[in-house]
Amino acid sequence: MAKRAGTGLLALLSLTLTAGAAPPAQDAPWWKALPRPVYREIERVAVESPWFEVYRIGPGTTALYEPGHWQEAISYLIEGRDRAVLFDTGLGIGDIKAVVNQLTALPVLVVNSHEHFDHIGGDRQFAEVAVADSPAALARLARGTGNLAGQITSETVWKALPPGFDKARYETPPIRPTRRLSDGERIELGGRTLEVILTPGHTPGSLCLLDRGRRLLFTGDTLYPADLYAHMPESSLADYVRSAARLGALADAVDVVCPGHNEAKAPASLLTRFAQAFAAIARGEAKATPARPGVVRYEAEGIVVLAREPKP
Ligand SMILES: [Zn+2]
Repeated sequence: MAKRAGTGLLALLSLTLTAGAAPPAQDAPWWKALPRPVYREIERVAVESPWFEVYRIGPGTTALYEPGHWQEAISYLIEGRDRAVLFDTGLGIGDIKAVVNQLTALPVLVVNSHEHFDHIGGDRQFAEVAVADSPAALARLARGTGNLAGQITSETVWKALPPGFDKARYETPPIRPTRRLSDGERIELGGRTLEVILTPGHTPGSLCLLDRGRRLLFTGDTLYPADLYAHMPESSLADYVRSAARLGALADAVDVVCPGHNEAKAPASLLTRFAQAFAAIARGEAKATPARPGVVRYEAEGIVVLAREPKP
């Protein structure tokens, strides 16, 4: 789970904590700001899908973006010579497998960036699913999401829902991953290697994928260009601080960051600011303001992090 900067912050918080609430009325609907400017600069790939928009990040790398739902989730298809990784499977509203089948004939391994509902929605459509080897994440995935109908309202969705999608039965069933990923593990795709970097913080099972050869970093919800969530019951600010420092050390190895929400392409400078912001929080130097009872909003280097209020 994640979301945008700006209006509707309280709504986002309530949605995050109670998967049934909808954002309250805002001055303008969130989708009036779409399309986000970055998408004018990225090549659009034509696919037959009423729900997904597909963009080419580079050779063998495509973003599968869901702008119709306010989470604006982004999954990535990362292709090598012999096989492909699908980094996240989105909200589970549209048929992501049908889109993947139009883009590649390679065998596909799903890798989940973490265990939140808006990244695992299509897992059931694939035979091979890999997640971080985190007991807490595995336990959550094994429980399933429960009913998610509250995520589908006139305020969260502006696009027509795909034919066959049944809002009343919207949920992701329990997931039993076929592979558990360790820190530093390599996923060989044939002429292309992805390195697994476990980055707990947003959730215990958060991970990033580094493609050193193509200088890409896929970050899921650990880093995207909007308020970062370290305030949820499953979040750990201390872990997030450590993960941010590790990722920041990779800034020289990365040209493009591919986040899990909103924008499919961000400059490596975002990575540097992200690391500096968490370092400032850890040193007690980030500006902190109350966001709502029990939650503080830290701001540094243009990065906003929501965290639980420190206990006195
Ligand atoms: Zn999340």
